[in-house]
Amino acid sequence: MLVVQKFGGSSVADAERVFNVARVVTDKYSEGNDVIVVVSAQGDTTDELIEKAREINPDASRREMDMLLSSGEQISIALLAMAIEKLGFPVISLLGWQAGFQTNSVYSAARIKRIQTERIQNELDKKNIVVVAGFQGINRFGDVTTLGRGGSDTSAVALAAALHADICQIYTDVDGVYTADPRKVKNAFKLDEITYDEMLELATLGAQVLNNRSVEMAKKYNVEIEVLSSLKRVPGTMVKEAAKMEKMLIKSVAKDTNVARIMIVGVPDEPGVAFQIFSRVAKAHINVDIILQSVGRDGTKDITFTVAADKGAEAVETLREYIERVGAQNISYDTGVAKISIVGAGMETHEGVAARMFEVLGDAGINIQMISTSEIKVSVLIDEAQADRAVQVVHAAFFEDSLAL
Ligand code: ASP
Ligand code: MG
Repeated sequence: MLVVQKFGGSSVADAERVFNVARVVTDKYSEGNDVIVVVSAQGDTTDELIEKAREINPDASRREMDMLLSSGEQISIALLAMAIEKLGFPVISLLGWQAGFQTNSVYSAARIKRIQTERIQNELDKKNIVVVAGFQGINRFGDVTTLGRGGSDTSAVALAAALHADICQIYTDVDGVYTADPRKVKNAFKLDEITYDEMLELATLGAQVLNNRSVEMAKKYNVEIEVLSSLKRVPGTMVKEAAKMEKMLIKSVAKDTNVARIMIVGVPDEPGVAFQIFSRVAKAHINVDIILQSVGRDGTKDITFTVAADKGAEAVETLREYIERVGAQNISYDTGVAKISIVGAGMETHEGVAARMFEVLGDAGINIQMISTSEIKVSVLIDEAQADRAVQVVHAAFFEDSLAL
């Protein structure tokens, strides 16, 4: 088998962790596999490098930022290769450009265009373990680029796709994807499998297990990902296409407190108003999530929508001039809200899932302010103070109650 393994910054944070990773890697190799390892910068290195840059020049060009940030991964690959050498295995470390990662020239948010795999293939043929710097590549001018924060996941999935690896194992500090946050919900359990689409929904909900772009790429090239822990040697969660899976109605209950609710009261109830509002928000590059518009009365209506918490003030400012011009009563925002979502491909074919969620929230005395649904997700906006309890009662209804749908 050809296996791509990726280890995040916390997995290689210090010498002991580096040796732990070296053992995981060499065990895989000893089983007779070809192994490519992608690593991130140690611990908080990337953040520290950003801080160093700020001290020198807060307006540094993105090209120089990439030159700086790519150095974090260079340290990791060399140290890991040294640890693997020490364990007595053949190994070679490669920077992104040596591994053939060609990207466009959007410094600090570069996209991989192709991977020239000859060098890696050669090293694998020589039976080397190949350790590759994640998060980086080279553009057509021969300059180093980086893929954006958290980009090493994407490096790993891209390599797995380009080399038709049998599996891409992504090691993190959690040991898989859970039915809810196990620190908050005592009966939460680890899922054996989850679909790409479900994983994407969870990632946008702030469950920081896998980088979004890496999941999109895995879906596009049908790369099977296993999410697992580098410390606990237990099977993780497989992320893959739906077809092969047992049907579970829902997979996970998620909480997102990074939400601001914008309320606009008393805009004219006439055509074009929603366009005027949301085109302004879009122009300011603010992502809108849930939208609610009231029924018109006395010639006016109310529009409420949500954005990321740190965009609340900006969204209000962006709209203030328009709101005043059309004589609306008021615009305000509130960050004391949370979005609770249930995610699962299984709900597509089951009616009553949303109703069940609303029922248990109602029974728990939790008021729903806004609702949005998609084929595989139901989200409600509630008071932030009730968020943890909401997750607990919803989780209980779908995963702990044998009478649940
Ligand atoms: N070291 C980079 C970062 O922290 C890339 C990664 O960790 O995936 O963003
Ligand atoms: Mg990192």
